[in-house]
Amino acid sequence: MPVEDHDQVLARIAELLASGLETMTEPFPETEKEFSQILRELRELPAGDLEQKLVIGGFVDHPYGEEEQRCLECMYYLVHRKWCDLPELAVPVEPHWWCRLWRI
Ligand code: SF4
Repeated sequence: MPVEDHDQVLARIAELLASGLETMTEPFPETEKEFSQILRELRELPAGDLEQKLVIGGFVDHPYGEEEQRCLECMYYLVHRKWCDLPELAVPVEPHWWCRLWRI
């Protein structure tokens, strides 16, 4: 994704989350089965449906839970690109955000 597009999409996501978009932070996928189910739902979305991607992914624009989990410590986060490398998500994200596909 070219830098301008990356920054534009990042700003769009930030705007959606700041505007109070209600996303599915729960249930957190405790098992591989539940995790895969969320991935399946993401794959079924029409291409470009950014808003539903955020909803199903359970995105929030702040650290989450008692452990203050963040994208920064997630195995899918590419620090230098500010990018979520999970193919079903593949979106720019800020290091202090979180989604329910978080993994270490
Ligand atoms: S999977 Fe979720 S928590 Fe992990 S980097 Fe991507 S958006 Fe952040």
